[in-house]
Amino acid sequence: MAEAAPRVTAVIREEIRALAAYHVPPAQGLVKLDAMENPYTWPPEMVAEWLRLLERVAVNRYPDPGAEALKARLREAMGVPEGAGILLGNGSDEIIQILALAAGGPRRAVVAPEPGFVMYRMIATFCGLGYRGVPLRAEDFALDVGAMRAALREARPALVFLAAPNNPTGNLFDEAALRAVIEAAPGLVVVDEAYAPFADFTAMGWLAEYPHLLVMRTVSKLGLAGLRLGLLAGDPAWIAELEKVRLPYNVNVLTQVSAEFALRHGEVFAAQTAAIRAERARLHGALAAVAGVRVWPSRANFLLFRVPAGRAGEVFEGLRTRGVLVKNLDGSHPLLADCLRVTVGRPEENDAFLAALEAVLGA
Ligand code: PMP
Repeated sequence: MAEAAPRVTAVIREEIRALAAYHVPPAQGLVKLDAMENPYTWPPEMVAEWLRLLERVAVNRYPDPGAEALKARLREAMGVPEGAGILLGNGSDEIIQILALAAGGPRRAVVAPEPGFVMYRMIATFCGLGYRGVPLRAEDFALDVGAMRAALREARPALVFLAAPNNPTGNLFDEAALRAVIEAAPGLVVVDEAYAPFADFTAMGWLAEYPHLLVMRTVSKLGLAGLRLGLLAGDPAWIAELEKVRLPYNVNVLTQVSAEFALRHGEVFAAQTAAIRAERARLHGALAAVAGVRVWPSRANFLLFRVPAGRAGEVFEGLRTRGVLVKNLDGSHPLLADCLRVTVGRPEENDAFLAALEAVLGA
């Protein structure tokens, strides 16, 4: 006779049961400004050329496990230094997971500034690492170097994540502060440059100086979020260890061919990111002019803003009823009370957002 079905508590670890699943809200029919996507599509002739390429893809075969053609293209497109090795992931999320799987174990920890990208904490938990979030400075979300140094001394983390620019605050940490944290870290430091296309900053040039530094990139914010492709650059000796944990075919053949193709059209993405930056400036100015709203400067493709106390939920719902989806961050961290985050969209999408916000706050 079959045994009784096992209880959830007997199988799923307590710290996993305590987690809330990463929530992706339904966006159908809405102006989607919640996930830092590039709102622009490709010119029709580029789509046609891509489809012709896809016709020849052998989907009956496993993908190239080394993805050498794609790596060469990424090296050039992202300015990875010659001496650095490259690890590819199914999005940079998977790279965070590979790092945590390789470093995880009893008494191993991750340290990251907070508020920050939630997957650092979630993946640390999945992989059995401790996690310590170090608060940013309340006023401007700058790195608190003293507090970071203390956390590094106490937690001795195997991994430190520094997002530059930071999500969800949008600011770029001061270079001297980044270097101070890198220099004080006892383990690996990952500078997460997901928003590099909008930031005019990269730590790629620091790889030669710091052997324990790794730089992470993604093609998601550039305009290829659907392909799921991330990259980690650093000392080939570290990359070789991490390669052991990477599943052999994690970057599928359609992604390899499509990303390699897309990155050959760098000018298309350069024009799109330039348009997004111009809209970011306009949207920042317009938000700053809305009575009762505070908006922070951003080096990314989104803006963090604060609404009058106690009204974030009402603003989020009011925007949604008017057809605009943003991210409500109220309650996610003490420093983000009454805060929401809006991704920079196309001009008409940003106008729809601004009109809806004025309607909600004016009501
Ligand atoms: N890092 C940061 C700072 C992010 O904000 C995100 C996406 N929100 C990611 C990494 C993950 O990007 P992806 O998995 O799409 O490469």
